[in-house]
Amino acid sequence: MYDYLIVGAGMYGATFAREMTDKGKKCLVIDRRSHIAGNCYTENKEGINIHKYGAHIFHTDDENIWNYVQRFAEFNNFKNSPRVRYKDKIYSFPINLFTLYQIYGVQTPEEARQKLEEVRVKNDNPQNLEEWILSQVGEEIYDIFIKGYTTKQWMKDPKELPSFIIKRLPIRLNFNDNYFFDRFQGIPIGGYTKLFENLLSGIEVQLDTDYFADRDYFDGLADKVVFTGRIDEFYNYRFGELEYRTLRFEHSYHAIEDYQGNAVVNYTELDIPYTRIIEHKHFEFGKQPYTYVTKEYPEVWQKDSIPYYPINDDTNTKIFNQYKTLSKEETKYIFGGRLADYRYYDMHQVIGSALAKVRRIEETISA
Ligand code: UDP
Repeated sequence: MYDYLIVGAGMYGATFAREMTDKGKKCLVIDRRSHIAGNCYTENKEGINIHKYGAHIFHTDDENIWNYVQRFAEFNNFKNSPRVRYKDKIYSFPINLFTLYQIYGVQTPEEARQKLEEVRVKNDNPQNLEEWILSQVGEEIYDIFIKGYTTKQWMKDPKELPSFIIKRLPIRLNFNDNYFFDRFQGIPIGGYTKLFENLLSGIEVQLDTDYFADRDYFDGLADKVVFTGRIDEFYNYRFGELEYRTLRFEHSYHAIEDYQGNAVVNYTELDIPYTRIIEHKHFEFGKQPYTYVTKEYPEVWQKDSIPYYPINDDTNTKIFNQYKTLSKEETKYIFGGRLADYRYYDMHQVIGSALAKVRRIEETISA
């Protein structure tokens, strides 16, 4: 008998398993995929770690979480500064003073501030993603950087999307082109899979094992079950299906040293079917005479697709809240991670929430 059966070997499951194992609990981790690490999984090809399910760049402002992950991997000092390609021009990104210089010729923070003040579409109460970003940067910047990319990525009109999605992106009036504000960032040297191997070391893991194939059996194995998969699937879709965004990745090998000169280039034109091209070696400053790149294509969601992003619009939020109410009543089951919480978490937030959950369980036991 196990103390915890953990369904899903992604970031939430692996962190939870590590913590509970270190507290002397007996854990079994199962995953329906044939590998650990969930969508963080990387595959090493000729010394280059390919992010098989999209680029993952670790960042956090929380020193405890930064110290925590460093127990399991050494991180390099990669800084994410994507470039944007739109109609054969390349722009600095995220939007910063150099971007504004490229578009408007402004050269100082004050000139940039005045320019944005002139072009922004004034709106005291923006109701959606489009209105919000227009109120910050105006039509031209919206068209170049946001409209096409967002429409492709979410397969929805930006008017139908919540603005928090875009508030992830900084808009800066200085030349800082670091995507993240956080004090700590980097890529685990040797790939994310290695980080997960270390997180899960000494813990029993069964791959190719589908919880839903025999729930009663799996539930019977442990005192508590930590579920990190889709919450709508857990409840057999009784309140309806939640929508997720899914992607297709096209990986290719090139016998050249450098394909695009940067880890990430976003293609923001609506007519180009992919949203970005990732060149993996740049995450680890690779010097190989060859390279691997990945094009990321948004795809229409189907029930069996791999879920990547929750869609936190009104319709889905209403459905999710019904599942959430049920999940709060459970005594055997614990839910966590991007899919079970239906939240657009970053990796550090997932780790933070798993650590917090373990702390709360400990406090309840000792109270
Ligand atoms: N986004 C955009 N243009 C870009 C990059 C991002 O409009 O060139 C928007 C898009 O809606 C995206 C959101 O900003 O979904 C968040 O971007 P982020 O890079 O944080 O997305 P992730 O890396 O999580 O896919």
